[in-house]
Amino acid sequence: MAKITLSNLRHSYLPTPKAREDYALQEIDLNWDDGGAYALLGPSGCGKTTLLNIISGLLTPSEGAILFDGRDVTTLTPEQRNIAQVFQFPVIYDTMTVYDNLAFPLRNRKMPEAEVDRRVRETAEMLEVTNLLNQRASGLAPDNKQKISMGRGLVRDDVNVVMFDEPLTVIDPHLKWKLRSKLKELHQRVKATMIYVTHDQTEALTFADQVVVMQLGEIVQIGTPVELFERPQHTFVGHFIGSPGMNVIPCELRGKKILMGDTEIPIEGSFTEEAEGQMEVGVRPEFVSFANKGLPAVVRKVSDIGRHIVVECRVGDVPVRAIIEKDAPDVGQNIHLKFEKQQTRLYCDSWLVSKPSSAANRKMAS
Ligand code: ADP
Ligand code: MG
Repeated sequence: MAKITLSNLRHSYLPTPKAREDYALQEIDLNWDDGGAYALLGPSGCGKTTLLNIISGLLTPSEGAILFDGRDVTTLTPEQRNIAQVFQFPVIYDTMTVYDNLAFPLRNRKMPEAEVDRRVRETAEMLEVTNLLNQRASGLAPDNKQKISMGRGLVRDDVNVVMFDEPLTVIDPHLKWKLRSKLKELHQRVKATMIYVTHDQTEALTFADQVVVMQLGEIVQIGTPVELFERPQHTFVGHFIGSPGMNVIPCELRGKKILMGDTEIPIEGSFTEEAEGQMEVGVRPEFVSFANKGLPAVVRKVSDIGRHIVVECRVGDVPVRAIIEKDAPDVGQNIHLKFEKQQTRLYCDSWLVSKPSSAANRKMAS
């Protein structure tokens, strides 16, 4: 197991990159503790696989360094880095049995057969594939193949890090939740540093202690699931995490007041004119409610989704969603919105306007 450091990392697939958009990864700095469970979360094309392949050694970065426990491994191969990587699609030997597939990474390292047998059976047990051990891999269903692929990543106990790149893509939806919680359990048992790449917030938030949110080749926030939910550093994080995501509403900062039209919006802490740029208020639908006074809005749509009701309103042209438990207003009704002060944040050019508590959060990210 190892602590992983990424230092001044940048990557372009072009031979002579010039502009910022020539880079698949912008400048990345990161410290991952030994034994942690991490997720890389972001939309398709944001650079997750690129970053993962740089950490594993399949790809050499254009700039910067990767360190395992302080040792520079930037020029080392994946084998020399001693990592295990599980890909989006199963990588197994079809002609071998499940047993031999799981044993392969161990026999490769000349482990004594008795020890191989112990590890293979233990891994099979964890993944609930013991009954398949003697079957030929070619006959397996896709999700069982992927389980074996994961098993090949988890069977060794001497790796520095186990990496998963969207491993549940080929898994049936009804099996996904099961494997997802299984992986969490596996991390607790195996105690290896694990990096899990996904575009699915639920997968990231269930698996990881710390989630790295990426957008356009850049890290926009690193935090625990609770931090990402409660204090998004960037409006993108607010949008991307949550269902529906955070409301982002243009506002004006006049003196120390935050205004939407003529309505003052109360926000925790105080602000001065030091923030210059495009100002927005961010508030999650969970913290929007209806009141006698407040921000005037019109109800556009009411969706009862069982657990709660999502009410979509308009403030002028801007959609604002509220999540409520009961007593939904009628579509077309004129209402007033109230935002929970402690959970209402100010953003300037998409970034959270910093306050002491968010400064601490940002420090964590660097
Ligand atoms: P993700 O895994 O988040 O979907 P990728 O890391 O695969 O994103 O891709 C990041 C960016 O780099 C994308 O714009 C993609 O088109 C580009 N890219 C990925 N792989 C290559 C490659 N082998 N050659 C050129 N461009 C690539
Ligand atoms: Mg990818």
